[in-house]
Amino acid sequence: MPVHQEPCQHKVLQLEPSNFAELAGYKRLDARKRYAATTKSGRAPRKKEGHAVEDAATELAQSFPGPLVLPHDDLNYDPTSSSQSLRSWLHEKERNKPSQQRKTIYVANIPEITPAMASMEDWTKPILSPDRGDPATKKLESLVSPDVENLVDYLSAFYHGMAVKKFPQVLKWVSWEEEEGKSSTKSRPPGVPKHVGLAYGDNVTRIRARPSPDGLFKGQLDLNDILDAATDMLPTDAYSIIVPVDHDIHEGEEDDFCCGRAYGGSRICVVQTARYHPVLDRGNKIDHEHTWPASHCKDYVDGICASEEIEPIPAVPTQIGASQLGPLRAAISAASLIPPPSTIEELRVLWFARLARTAAHELGHCMGMDHCVYYACNMQGTAGMTEDGRQPPYLCPVCLGKISHAVACELQHGSEEARKVYVRQRYEALGEFCKRWEGNGLFAGFGAWIGERLGKVEEEESEH
Ligand SMILES: [Zn+2]
Ligand SMILES: [Zn+2]
Repeated sequence: MPVHQEPCQHKVLQLEPSNFAELAGYKRLDARKRYAATTKSGRAPRKKEGHAVEDAATELAQSFPGPLVLPHDDLNYDPTSSSQSLRSWLHEKERNKPSQQRKTIYVANIPEITPAMASMEDWTKPILSPDRGDPATKKLESLVSPDVENLVDYLSAFYHGMAVKKFPQVLKWVSWEEEEGKSSTKSRPPGVPKHVGLAYGDNVTRIRARPSPDGLFKGQLDLNDILDAATDMLPTDAYSIIVPVDHDIHEGEEDDFCCGRAYGGSRICVVQTARYHPVLDRGNKIDHEHTWPASHCKDYVDGICASEEIEPIPAVPTQIGASQLGPLRAAISAASLIPPPSTIEELRVLWFARLARTAAHELGHCMGMDHCVYYACNMQGTAGMTEDGRQPPYLCPVCLGKISHAVACELQHGSEEARKVYVRQRYEALGEFCKRWEGNGLFAGFGAWIGERLGKVEEEESEH
């Protein structure tokens, strides 16, 4: 790996899906259909204004570029994944509407490890082969996983207008008595019982355990069992609940691992911190220079497409022009000023930023949102750790339309005008959060993106 390479200038931006997208079988909806997906009627404006929609799309791409669709991305594996417009979300029967009686998003604590389960402490630490970890592994071993308080803070801004609170009962890992002394653990490595217990208050739920199939973690937990516990925990005033865990999790026998999972209709979700540990970045081939926002650097995208023998297409003047200005460019400029995280504190913030983005995504499913195929968006599906790092923290116009409608119109009974005010206030709340965390590239970029985006929102509103 070249060490003293000149930093990339990210001169030209990839605002449309990559050249690989076609080979993957992904066909993006055109500008009119994307616009129609943001309206309650599901229709784009009539013909006369129709032309304006296409023109506006070029400018909109400076805020909301297309999904990159790179090799091994979610849309590579599932290129014809169905789209959920604002209109189809509105009419979704399974969808839970927030109400004054049910407007609280609960964030559970990361389950504590009780003395009886002390061996589970070890399961949270990646088992690194020499080529897998970061060279500065020793330093990284002392990293402590992110704080739930900070997560509550982020989600309060992201889900502005909802009540985001810590779940009042303390979750703990306890032993699952039934298993003790049984011979069924014979073939299992020492220290990994077949089941562990997840306790809160007087309740204990049985959680299946196994070693992680790729050998990266000594123990891994069944996320469906954790979600069963979440169902039991759900308070009556809860809109939804998220359970973050420090352990690796998986879904079913065949699954290697999963970073987060939601049962939207049941308003429950789980996220893990273990796989986001910065010590794994080298093994996951994460290029810190090209995580979001710089993931939209054309040179970077071309380089990845080249691995599939896709020839780069030279940038056209409109692309070069559009690359100079706008929210995405502002995000890249701001993030470029932040040196790659190296201190323990900086690495811990990087770890937190990843968790925050995924937690917001999973809670989005609880709000009835499906995976987004319209734009690069926080609600996009994710197929792996590298794609995860390339995706943005913001919601695209379609997904933003959904959450603003849920909060401003359904919860607060506001008008269309009130919804627009909500959008602005939500951006302001997120902007303030980012300001407090601007030492991190993702939050610095997001803060700058929001600053420019707010200007655009005001422009658009004054045109009407
Ligand atoms: Zn998802
Ligand atoms: Zn979206």
